[in-house]
Amino acid sequence: MTPYRVAVVGSGPAGVYATEALIRSGVDVSVDIYDRLPTPYGLVRYGVAPDHPRIKSIIVALRKVLERDQVRFLGDVHVGVDVTTEQLGQLYDAVVFATGASVGRRLSIPGEDLAGVCSATDFVAWYSGHPDHARAGESFPLQAESVVVIGAGNVALDVARLLVKSAEDLAGTDMPPHVLDRLARSGVRDVHLVCRRGPEHAKFTAKELRELLELDDVTTEIDADLLPAGSEDPLTAANLKAFADLAARESAPGRRTLHFHFWSRPVELLDAGGAVAAVRLEKTQDVGGTVVATGELTELKAGMVVRSVGYYSMQIGTLPFDEDLGRVPHDAGRVLYPDGRALDGHYVAGWVKRGPSGVVGTNRACAADTVVSILADLEGRPPRGAGPEEVDKVLAEHGIRPVTYDGWLSIDSEELSRGQGLGRARTKIPDWETLRRVAAADAEQPGRDTA
Ligand SMILES: Cc1cc2nc3c(=O)[nH]c(=O)nc-3n(C[C@H](O)[C@H](O)[C@H](O)COP(=O)(O)OP(=O)(O)OC[C@H]3O[C@@H](n4cnc5c(N)ncnc54)[C@H](O)[C@@H]3O)c2cc1C
Repeated sequence: MTPYRVAVVGSGPAGVYATEALIRSGVDVSVDIYDRLPTPYGLVRYGVAPDHPRIKSIIVALRKVLERDQVRFLGDVHVGVDVTTEQLGQLYDAVVFATGASVGRRLSIPGEDLAGVCSATDFVAWYSGHPDHARAGESFPLQAESVVVIGAGNVALDVARLLVKSAEDLAGTDMPPHVLDRLARSGVRDVHLVCRRGPEHAKFTAKELRELLELDDVTTEIDADLLPAGSEDPLTAANLKAFADLAARESAPGRRTLHFHFWSRPVELLDAGGAVAAVRLEKTQDVGGTVVATGELTELKAGMVVRSVGYYSMQIGTLPFDEDLGRVPHDAGRVLYPDGRALDGHYVAGWVKRGPSGVVGTNRACAADTVVSILADLEGRPPRGAGPEEVDKVLAEHGIRPVTYDGWLSIDSEELSRGQGLGRARTKIPDWETLRRVAAADAEQPGRDTA
C-alpha cells in the first residue's frame, strides 16, 4: 500500500520531532522536511550559543531522524515564497508547519530605530553565522565601550556573556572567522543587563548564571541588597544563590564588567547624531504583584543597545495567523481559521504553535501532541499524497531545486574541514552563495542560480 505523505515545514527541533513521532507511530508514512535554509536544525544551529557545544550536540539525535529511509530533506525551499501553502496542501496528506518564531519583539519606546540598536535575534543570527546576516556585523557598533542588553532571559544572558568573553575563550567555537575577528577587536568594556523586575523574577537559569563565576577576567556587579533571602521555588532559589555567589565573588577589576540592573525599565533611547548614546531608565517596583513605574529616572551610557524581550512568528503564505499573539491559531495542533473551523490537513508544532517557551526538549512533547491529531484525522482515509518523484516534478516546474540531504552533508563536511584547518572542530559557512555552491558540488542536481 502507498504510504501517507506528510510535508513538515521547518527542520528545527519541532519539525524533526514531529517527523520522529510520525515514523515511530507504526503508520505507513513518509515525510518530506522542507527548510528555507540549505542547512537543517533551526535554532539549534543558529540560536543555541556557540560556547554551549553540549546543548548543540542534540543534533546527533536529530540527525538520526533525518537519516531514516522514510525521510527526505528539501533545503533552500522557502514555503510561502518559492512554493505556496496551498500547493503543499494539494501534494500531501498533511502539512505540519514548524517554522519557529524568528522576529524579535520591539520595545515600543522612542529612539528604537537609532543606529546601534538591534534585536537579540539579529545579533545572535550574526554570531551564529546565519546566511541572512553575513554582513550584519558591520552595523553593530562593537567599538562602543558600553553596551546595554534589555531582557531577563537566557537569550539576553547569552548575548551579554558573548560580549564579555575574551576572544581566546570563543576561539574554539564554530563561529565564522569574520565574527571572531570582529569580537576580538571589540572595544566593549561594560555590559549592562537591564531587567524590568527583580532577581527573583528573572528567567535566567542558574546553570547559565553560574557559568559567569568561571570567567576570571570578568567582574560582575550586582546590588546584593536587592537579593531576597531565598525562595520556596527551587529554581528561583537556585538563581538567587547564583546571584549571591556572583555578588560575593572577590575578583580583581576585570577586563570587562557585567552589571545587572534590576527593577528598571527603558523609557527612551537617547540620540547623538543619529546613533544611540544612552538609555533612559525608570525605576520600577512591585506593588501587590504588579510592576509599577516610580517616575525616578536614571541614564546609562550606551553605544549599542540589544533588545531581548521575546519573539514572535512570521505569517507563512496565506496560513491563518494571529497578529496579536504572533503565532498560528490552533486546536491541539490543527490550524484554525479565525471563525474557529479547522483548516483540513494543516498543523503546527513548536514555537509557531505555542510561542517562544521551554527548552529544546519541550518541542518533542509539543510535536508529539500535534502528531496525535494528524493520525486521528488520517485514520480511515486512503492515502492521496503525491509520491516523491511527482513532488520533485512539481517543484522543478516552479524552478525549485532543493538542497538534498547529501547536499547538506557536503556543507557539513566542508565546515568540519575548514574548522580543522584552523585547529577548531567546525567553522560555519556564513553566506548563501558558498552554502549553495558547496551543497551543489556533491548533489545530484546542480544548485540554484544565486544571481
Ligand atoms: C538565541 C537562542 C538561544 C537558545 N538557546 C537554547 C539553549 O541553550 N537550550 C535550549 O534548550 N533551548 C534554547 N533555545 C530554544 C530552542 O532553540 C527552541 O526551543 C527551538 O529551536 C524551537 O524549535 P522550532 O523547531 O519551533 O523552531 P526553530 O528552531 O526556529 O526552527 C524553525 C525552522 O523553520 C525554518 N523555516 C522558517 N520559516 C520557513 C518557511 N517559510 N519555509 C521553510 N522553512 C522555514 C527555519 O529556517 C528553521 O530551520 C534558544 C533559543 C534562542 C532564540
